[in-house]
Amino acid sequence: MTSRTALVWFRRDLRAFDHAALSHALRENDRVFCVFIFDREILDVLPNPRDRRVEFIWESVTELRAALTALGGGLIVEHAHAREAVPRIAQALGARAVYANHDDEPAALARDENVKNTLKSTFGADFKTFKDHVIFERMEVMTLSGTPFSVFTPYKNAWLKKVDESTFQPHEVEKFSAAFAPKVPNAPEMPSLEAMGFARTNLAALKVPTGVTGGAKLLEDFVPRMDRYDEARNFPAVKGPSYLSVHLRFGTVSIRQLAAVAIARWKAQASGGAGTWLSELIWRDFYVQILHHHPRVVHRCFKPAYDAIAWKNDPKLFAAWCEGRTGYPIVDAAMRQLNQTGYMHNRLRMIVASFLTKDLHVNWQMGETYFAEKLIDFDLSANNGGWQWAASTGCDAQPYFRIFNPISQSEKFDAQGQFIRRYVPEIATLPDKHIHAPWLAPALILQSANVSLGATYPHPCVDHAHARETTLALFAAVRD
Ligand code: FAD
Repeated sequence: MTSRTALVWFRRDLRAFDHAALSHALRENDRVFCVFIFDREILDVLPNPRDRRVEFIWESVTELRAALTALGGGLIVEHAHAREAVPRIAQALGARAVYANHDDEPAALARDENVKNTLKSTFGADFKTFKDHVIFERMEVMTLSGTPFSVFTPYKNAWLKKVDESTFQPHEVEKFSAAFAPKVPNAPEMPSLEAMGFARTNLAALKVPTGVTGGAKLLEDFVPRMDRYDEARNFPAVKGPSYLSVHLRFGTVSIRQLAAVAIARWKAQASGGAGTWLSELIWRDFYVQILHHHPRVVHRCFKPAYDAIAWKNDPKLFAAWCEGRTGYPIVDAAMRQLNQTGYMHNRLRMIVASFLTKDLHVNWQMGETYFAEKLIDFDLSANNGGWQWAASTGCDAQPYFRIFNPISQSEKFDAQGQFIRRYVPEIATLPDKHIHAPWLAPALILQSANVSLGATYPHPCVDHAHARETTLALFAAVRD
């Protein structure tokens, strides 16, 4: 009898537990090999050799390799073009099928289609894919008339209705069969970051925990805080959110495990915090399905009329925003947090996205691209959804005339200026009352805080009230 051999291809699912593709492969085959490709199609176009994401992945893949080895398996790791490498490796191992989890980003779908066709045409192997990184995907949550949802609240209600006992069932991962040859023939060593053209970043100095152990540590830290999430999540100086986004992005946590914890706490009515956090996980599913049903959002506004907005795209204002020197302290602090750490608090993402589009009149796509380059948790669906929401060009109900006021947002969510002081030290000694809008402070106060506007800290680069009027006119022009 010929043995059944399979290859599991890891992508955004860097864990060896509750893993749909691995679970299916181990149950359906005698010999299971695993592979991770540092895909040159993605890595070769990254502009910066010090990329926190690449380091995060490298650390997490190292841990995954050890975990798979402990289960009696192994992990082949290559720095190559996945489209070419996966079929080549599968054929060399004699695999009859490649197993992977769904990735619904348009570029990933095109890559997968290509791999599927190559497998079939060159040696007749199958490409089997599974839902893994969301709770509900694709056509699973639809309106009663069978169309996709484009407004969050009814989507969330339908999502919650669909939950049953099976929803959060983990995909158990068995040990690899003893018949498996633990050493992959001629398996190369894992390529180093340097060999792939990358260098270490400040990830370790920032104490960003990587891999499955890192995800578990953050979850353990967050669970006791979950009940207070609804209050604490809005204040960037406070440890309110979970900081799990990068782990959700790369699958070093299981979404089923997180959602099960949240729903259990919410149902036990411990607090509103768990319910609010669960809603955030549902937002994640929501944007994944928006991208699936409307892939055009990658290049266009969800609401087509807004493609015609005459954004001003002033390069000097855009550069000031990127570098955190707009003269609006909350915006500058947020952008510096992003540049220095690769993370930005959700409240701040909303503030800076509103500011870029509705105060500086820069096309949301330029901000989206900047975030995509800098965010360690960059995820196409959530980033695109977040940007289109803030720019009022997207799905859901965020009308164009709802424009964040950067000063009142700052006064409300960083009242004592703790967050601003952390990232904008040049104005740190201004009193709380004046830290949100230094240009309104009396000259004596500025002087005693050693702040010289235009020299030590910029003048505000635009006038918010005036910018607001311009935004209304820009939107009105295309609405009419
Ligand atoms: P928590 O508050 O602990 O939330 C838990 C998880 O829920 C998050 O890790 C995330 O997976 C999910 N989530 C929370 N809020 C949202 C949301 N609005 N949309 C979709 N999922 C959500 N999130 C990303 O993961 N990647 C991005 O590239 C991204 N870009 C954004 C851009 C803009 C302009 C905006 C406004 C939001 C963006 N978000 C993005 C959503 C949100 O800001 C982050 O998920 C959150 O700040 C991550 O921190 P956390 O893990 O501590 O979140």
